[in-house]
Amino acid sequence: MKIQSRRAVIVLFLLGFFIFGIVFFVSSYLKNASTWVFYSGNKHIYKNGRISTGTIYDRNGLTLFSTEGGKVKYNSDKTIRTAVMHAVGDSEGNVSTGALYAFKKQLSGWNLVNGVYHGNGSGNAISLTIDAKLCAVAYEALAGRHGTVGVYNYKTGDILCMVSTPSFDPENPPKVDPDSEEHNGIYMNRLLSSTYTPGSVFKLVTLAAAIDNISGVTDRTFRCNGTLKIDGGKVTCPSSHGKQNLSEALANSCNTAFAELAIEAGANQLQAYAQKAGFNSVMYIDGIKTAQGKVDVTAASKTDLGWAGIGQYTDTANPATFMAYMGAIANNGVRVTPKLLLNSKSKQTSVLSPDTADKIKTYMRNDTILNYGERNYPGLHLCAKSGTAQINGQQPNAWFAGFLDRKDCPLAFVVVVENGGAGSKVSGPIAGKVLQEAVKTYAGKM
Ligand SMILES: [Zn+2]
Repeated sequence: MKIQSRRAVIVLFLLGFFIFGIVFFVSSYLKNASTWVFYSGNKHIYKNGRISTGTIYDRNGLTLFSTEGGKVKYNSDKTIRTAVMHAVGDSEGNVSTGALYAFKKQLSGWNLVNGVYHGNGSGNAISLTIDAKLCAVAYEALAGRHGTVGVYNYKTGDILCMVSTPSFDPENPPKVDPDSEEHNGIYMNRLLSSTYTPGSVFKLVTLAAAIDNISGVTDRTFRCNGTLKIDGGKVTCPSSHGKQNLSEALANSCNTAFAELAIEAGANQLQAYAQKAGFNSVMYIDGIKTAQGKVDVTAASKTDLGWAGIGQYTDTANPATFMAYMGAIANNGVRVTPKLLLNSKSKQTSVLSPDTADKIKTYMRNDTILNYGERNYPGLHLCAKSGTAQINGQQPNAWFAGFLDRKDCPLAFVVVVENGGAGSKVSGPIAGKVLQEAVKTYAGKM
């Protein structure tokens, strides 16, 4: 009896140990399998450290990346390869926001139950929302300057154009010198991952706060003599705009009028409307996280609040998030989150009342007619706002953002050229070129 019970204890102990082992293995598998499978030593997915599985198409079925027998191929056109490099990614995985890295699960066909299963040994195919030819137009329009161009459908969320410069040909990756100006942030997708001082494009946030919180503001007259004195501080305007109504103040991009509006709406409202516009939060574009633009006026003096209302002070903006705010104004106040996978669904968030969105839209349309010139944007029905964001000791960043007020071609956009100079002069023509091309291809077909 004694021996038998001792044996039973040993068996029970071994059994317990065995069960513990199984539980440990299964839980580790569930927790870590997706990390294990994407170790660069996995020869099913990587060859010599390069991703060697899957196919990536643009929205029109153009092949951007493919693998044949473990050999990696990009599009045959060098300009297209370079223009879509940040969207597709490089095979070394340096561009962490690129499809090759961000969608590697879909590309490899890997899942928890079946593991890496490739029917024909070349992984899965995914289709991106981008139009590679449109990206090439944007890349050429940037003409070697550093910056970004984004265009998206504000009804469906499809990103048609996503270009960031500097870029490189993924078939011949350069030896990157991180200290050189030429390669500054070359792996970063500036649309998704950068933040810049917004300057005057931020007036579209202050405008929303003012319309909703200052009674009679749309019928008011503003006077600008070039300087607004505030409690010992001041906000200055590049010129003295004289007498203007709210719509003219936006078209003049009058600093003193908008500083006055920010102060009158108050810090709490400016903060709240900045959050509604997407500041202080990130967007997830099919799981790819954007950088966070920031507005914090909680401890701002009156003068600082004035400067914050015109996109200076400590304000920073992420271009993709700002583009989505443009989309919300165009789309009756409903923001459709941009997306990159053709078959995914977008999140919709109401950020402005339809009435407020409509008023801002009218003013932005007026801005194009009075200021940027219809002849520069013929037939687009463009609503826009420029920004020339001052940064200490450098040429300003040139912003141009807005949308087409067209049911047959519902596109919102953003263009930023780093240290480019005046927003409407530098970034406006880039937007014009890309949007004309988009209208030619898609009007009536979206
Ligand atoms: Zn002024």
